[in-house]
Amino acid sequence: MEHDENAADLRFTPVASLKGVGPVIAEKLARKGIETVEQLLYFVPVRWVNRGALRKISDLKAGEDVSVVGRVDSYRSLFFRHHRKKGYEVVVADDTGHLSLKWFQWTAGYLKQICHKGTVLFISGRVGQFGEFLQIVHPAVTVLAGDESPDDTRTVLPVYSQLEGIKQGMVRNIVEEAVRVFNTRPFGVLPASEEKRHSLVAFTEAVNCAHGLDGGFDEERSASSVRRMILEEYLQFQATLMAKKRKAHKEKGIAFKTEGPSLRRFLDGLPFGLTVGQERVIGEIVADMGRGIPMNRLLQGDVGSGKTVCAVAGTCVAVDSGFQVAFMAPTEILAEQHYLNVHRWFSELGIPVVLLKGNMGKQRRAVLDEIRSGAVPVIIGTHAIIQSDVTFHRLGLVIIDEQHRFGVDQRKRLRKKSFSPDVLNMSATPIPRTLSMVVYGDLDVSVIDTMPEGRQAVKTLVFAEDKRAKAEAMVEKELKAGHGVFIVYPLIDESDTPGMRNATGMAEHWQRSVFPGHRVGLLHGRLNTKDKESIMERFRQKKIDILVCTTVIEVGIDVPHATTIVIENAERFGLSQLHQLRGRVGRGSGPASCILLASSLRTNLASKRLKIMEKTNDGFAIAEEDLKIRGVGDMLGVRQSGMPPFRIGDIVRDIDIMARARRIAEEYTKTLSDDELQGLVAAIGNRFDDPREFSGTA
Ligand code: ADP
Ligand code: MG
Repeated sequence: MEHDENAADLRFTPVASLKGVGPVIAEKLARKGIETVEQLLYFVPVRWVNRGALRKISDLKAGEDVSVVGRVDSYRSLFFRHHRKKGYEVVVADDTGHLSLKWFQWTAGYLKQICHKGTVLFISGRVGQFGEFLQIVHPAVTVLAGDESPDDTRTVLPVYSQLEGIKQGMVRNIVEEAVRVFNTRPFGVLPASEEKRHSLVAFTEAVNCAHGLDGGFDEERSASSVRRMILEEYLQFQATLMAKKRKAHKEKGIAFKTEGPSLRRFLDGLPFGLTVGQERVIGEIVADMGRGIPMNRLLQGDVGSGKTVCAVAGTCVAVDSGFQVAFMAPTEILAEQHYLNVHRWFSELGIPVVLLKGNMGKQRRAVLDEIRSGAVPVIIGTHAIIQSDVTFHRLGLVIIDEQHRFGVDQRKRLRKKSFSPDVLNMSATPIPRTLSMVVYGDLDVSVIDTMPEGRQAVKTLVFAEDKRAKAEAMVEKELKAGHGVFIVYPLIDESDTPGMRNATGMAEHWQRSVFPGHRVGLLHGRLNTKDKESIMERFRQKKIDILVCTTVIEVGIDVPHATTIVIENAERFGLSQLHQLRGRVGRGSGPASCILLASSLRTNLASKRLKIMEKTNDGFAIAEEDLKIRGVGDMLGVRQSGMPPFRIGDIVRDIDIMARARRIAEEYTKTLSDDELQGLVAAIGNRFDDPREFSGTA
């Protein structure tokens, strides 16, 4: 198929141009988001009826599963005095006899649609005997158009989901008209030769078949036609991403000198050897930076896999080329920790580093001056870095830690602080691989898939509330061995939510009633920075034994002697979040454990979910599970990224189709020239125009 103007046109042609669609119908379709002919094509049936298998009422026998078409003859409510039960009966007829339909539970709206004398119904269900009459109790019923006769000539009858105010027959006619027009000017992402090469059903064939306009009744074929249409939609999306990526790779960026002295010296000075994964990722980052196009890379690596070292390697390259680096972390605690580490590493190399955060008081001016003048090359901070009064001298590299914690705008603002800086996003894989391919489709992705040697898997145990004493005993044992313990709560203080514990109240409880002989500290997001800092520091220095806290400690915190983490109301957290929290321990060389205390494991789902934590330490696998259980929206969070507006594709259900679309689009677009690819994207329209806007990678 060619991507010529005509074909492109049809996709943007309003439904009102179709025969039989007046302004009233167009308005009703618009309310369902159907405005163009293409959108109408994607309004696919929910099921298909085999008209060939339709039965006449007089032929029915009790015990059979049947489909019939009949006209409503009468209807009435029923009352069974003996059972004190209400019911409803609708009697339908065809030209051979009468059949009774009965409901004992119903919604008013449903019956209201049905109960009009003369309404034609499509009915399926199991025939039963009631005295000498035949009946179907709780049949599946679809209202057909009034003008539709039970002897329509089509062999396949597509059934669409109800569109308010438009009868099925009308929908069917309109869609048929759209398909007819489409057949005269078909369009699709792939040319026929590509479809063949990938053994795909032709898109045109799929559209016709999905709407019951091609061939006889074959439910499997109809369903696979719909999947082919989902693939088409995903191909459009992926092709748009490919075009974006190609364009980004043509932009002019900084070509850093990668042969400077700092990188080698930094790596040689580390007290440990790099893992294979780190070696590879650093290679990828350095290669990117050496190229004259802006790096836009996502670095994924499980909690504790050592992403920071890779980011700092990139920092060395930028500094050696005379550029500044902005390293942004989502929390002050984390920014401070990065600052301490980098400062320690870089003071030996003679590279100045500053920390920029909120509430710096008088110091802020001086720090801002140093950044503006270029006196400090490395700036580590919270979102304080993106404030408007922060001006860089020569920003060359932007590093965003735990990037999913930032909104699109925040990341964009940091980027805008310079002309096309290189960008390195880091994430502890809150997003499973399959999904990241979609969400970050336009990024280059590096994965650290190895853990530093000697790391022990954190042993995880799920306890219900009645095993509390056991959990306490385990904690006590660790304390006796001189280890630190985190105890995490979903809330800072008391709330109205029943059954939820809070950090403030429980800190007192642990101190007074459980471990009076040990020192309990309390850390949460509402404390001011000074207090937070000093508490963290005291915990690090073993002046606090038990740190009762909220999820402020979720990201990045590194306290090697902390060996145990207890998470209360564990059922309230997402699995990926639990995994992040669990990653706070096991950072030293000794064994570590995580105790998930659930207030109730009554529901099957709750205990099944938490059991996953016992089974695996693989963040990717956990993210996949989380995705299955919680769904995409929940997992990505609405603030960071809405998902692209797919018409019929369901990202979770159809992730394998997306993967396939990805491979095909990658292969196909490679064969296209820049102009051809642009032409294709223009033909697709602007639905996925700025994937970065929704993927949140801007
Ligand atoms: P994350 O990927 O979760 O951000 P970090 O970068 O914070 O992980 O690293 C976690 C800890 O592991 C840090 O204390 C870091 O110094 C240490 N580390 C990093 N790389 C290695 C390595 N190759 N061998 C041993 N320890 C390492
Ligand atoms: Mg980190």
